[in-house]
Amino acid sequence: MFSNVISKIQESKNIAILSHVMPDGDNIGSSLALYNVLHAMGKYVKYILDDDVPKIYKFLKGSEKVQKPEKEEKFDLVFVLDCGDRERLGKSAMYLEGATVVVIDHHISNKYFGDINIVNPKASATGELIYNLLVEMDYKLDIKAAECLYTAIVTDTGQFQYSNTTDITHNIAGELIKSGVVVADISNKVYQSNPKGKVLLIKEALESLEFFNNDTITCMALTQEQIKETGSVDSDTENLINFGRDIDSVEVAVFIKEITKEKVKASLRSKNRIDVCKIAAKFGGGGHIRASGCTIYGSVEEAKKLIINAVQQQINGGDK
Ligand code: 5GP
Ligand code: MN
Repeated sequence: MFSNVISKIQESKNIAILSHVMPDGDNIGSSLALYNVLHAMGKYVKYILDDDVPKIYKFLKGSEKVQKPEKEEKFDLVFVLDCGDRERLGKSAMYLEGATVVVIDHHISNKYFGDINIVNPKASATGELIYNLLVEMDYKLDIKAAECLYTAIVTDTGQFQYSNTTDITHNIAGELIKSGVVVADISNKVYQSNPKGKVLLIKEALESLEFFNNDTITCMALTQEQIKETGSVDSDTENLINFGRDIDSVEVAVFIKEITKEKVKASLRSKNRIDVCKIAAKFGGGGHIRASGCTIYGSVEEAKKLIINAVQQQINGGDK
């Protein structure tokens, strides 16, 4: 599956790894695993991201080496991991110019914008695909790379709870544990280390919770002012949407985060039957069937109306 990719790695001297803005655990974990391995192979490699690495992922090896897209530089080979759309690369997209681009991803909405595209929506996380690549390279995983991949998988599967979790996912997790990963240690660092500001932000988010469509839809919203006042950072909103989803009557949860007064980021989650990727696609976004997102140009209130309407239509119109 990866033979083309492996020959490209062998031929290349300068390699960049890119991923999407507002990075999550799979973005960081899968990219750092590949970064550490390429570095250990003696390649000149850079992992470039528009946004900061969230604090909870800073224990992963190599996280301190992540760079911002500030310098003009040419690469022979550019990996784009966990990102289905070049628009989501932000400024980092400039490094695609003139390079062989290898996209490795698991988003169903992937636009196949690479020269080589390894896209498998059945994979729970891009971390699974990078694990397969390393196996095909005969690379013996050390604990540090294994921790990166385990973090990628545990976060994208919602701690092995979502429908993307398969026997393959568990087998890979088992192999990562054999390579030295201590499960409780990762759980402690990723799930039991919330900064105080994030917990204050959870209070604000719950305060904003609204129900629609006979309690089948929830919506929470946060402004930049609330993020600042609680002493939080943008990435502290990751997973807050789960509070709106994990209610017995709810099928779809919406979370709206103000970016500026005229621009918001919307997140969508579904539980059993609604394809939220279709809803996000109506607004130019994408993702997975059960977890998607999009950017909407408008105020929080305008975005809320638009999105709740679109969700309501899908739930009531029988269009799954
Ligand atoms: P989240 O709501 O946590 O930001 O993202 C949920 C899923 O949707 C993730 O897999 C993420 O990569 C994807 N996603 C979020 N926002 C966008 C977007 O604007 N465009 C696309 N194509 N995917 C998105
Ligand atoms: Mn992912």
